[in-house]
Amino acid sequence: MSSETAPAVPDSGPTRASLPAHAQSLLRMIHRIRAGGSVMGFAIVGSHLAAGHASVTAWVLLVLHFLVYPHLVHAWALRARDPIRAGLYNFLLDGLLLGLWSASLGYPLWITFTLVVCNTISVMLYQGLRGALLATATFVLPGLALLWVTGTPTNLHTSALTTGLSMAGLAVFLLMVTRMNFQRTLKLRDTREALRRSEQALQSANDALHGQLDEIQVLQARLSEQANRDPLTGLYNRRYLDSTLERELARCQREGQPLSLILIDIDHFKLINDSWGHPAGDEVLRQLADMLASHARGSDVACRYGGEEFLMLLPGMPLGVACERAERWREDFAAATVGFGEFAIQATLSAGIAGYPGHGTTAALLIRNADRALYEAKAEGRNRVTVYDPQRSVAGN
Ligand code: GH3
Ligand code: MG
Ligand code: MG
Repeated sequence: MSSETAPAVPDSGPTRASLPAHAQSLLRMIHRIRAGGSVMGFAIVGSHLAAGHASVTAWVLLVLHFLVYPHLVHAWALRARDPIRAGLYNFLLDGLLLGLWSASLGYPLWITFTLVVCNTISVMLYQGLRGALLATATFVLPGLALLWVTGTPTNLHTSALTTGLSMAGLAVFLLMVTRMNFQRTLKLRDTREALRRSEQALQSANDALHGQLDEIQVLQARLSEQANRDPLTGLYNRRYLDSTLERELARCQREGQPLSLILIDIDHFKLINDSWGHPAGDEVLRQLADMLASHARGSDVACRYGGEEFLMLLPGMPLGVACERAERWREDFAAATVGFGEFAIQATLSAGIAGYPGHGTTAALLIRNADRALYEAKAEGRNRVTVYDPQRSVAGN
């Protein structure tokens, strides 16, 4: 019997009003064992008394102890300040009283054996081996003391009826206890199974939540990517450029690196729209965007700056290299033909370039100077790349 797993007796127990369900069921079970065992004890001891010449007092005590006492102590345990502790202490009182019965009858073997085994098992169920030893001691010691004081003669034998009743009582008691324990085991198994199921449900809910969180994170990343992109060309938009340019400029300043800005504008784009239609104009914008994106390095930021204006942010790139690249893009774009339905559209672009540190140390100034250079390129006849020239700008202004 797994009595070692019995519940521990608390130091200061709950009040009756707050007695938890498991404590109530424990007390009920203790009461059932005590009451059931006592009925059998009544039959066994009663048969022994009947075989001899028992006094009326002995019969009264028999009735009081075996038929009334179990219910009294249960009622007392329920009303005690610490019902669990009271219920368990009652077992020790049982041991004491049964020991006195056994001693006063002269230790009839079968009766003594039956009473001590039943009492010890009852206590062991709830208090383990230590409780069982204590119960046995409370059974044996007071009885021995009584024997020593009164000198009651020993009477080891019992009648066939009492022996039979003792055997049957012991067997029934063991069956009763085993059945109760079996029911407790079943209940424990059901509880464990329910716990396992709720753990599983909790785990799946947790997994689902994590999955949803991942989805939300992916959606958030996509959303913030979309917020930074131009829907027509897929290039970065002006909003993104504004935040990135400041950051990249600060980094280049910190690391002593150059930075170039190329502002690109399609020449006579209005004419393209007017000649082939707005969708054809869109296709031209997309083609130029694809070309710029395909030539961009990992650190470059290709951005649609306005209607048909694009801005390339080239961190770490010296002005001369930026100029060469812009020139190549200009040539490539001029040589390319944009197919739109049956149309083959050709267009050119102009570009203005400004570089850090030569043409400004702030984002606003660099953009303004790239724009001025672009204006120069347009003024000089379009389809060309112009680097910002402070002298010319001063003269122009
Ligand atoms: P310039 O050589 O001086 O740059 O002349 P331009 O015709 O290119 O310049 P302008 O600023 O007069 O015209 C730009 C045109 O770009 C006007 C506008 O309708 C068109 N545009 C702006 N955004 C879009 C767009 O998303 N799609 C198309 N198809 N056209 C656009
Ligand atoms: Mg323009
Ligand atoms: Mg234009």
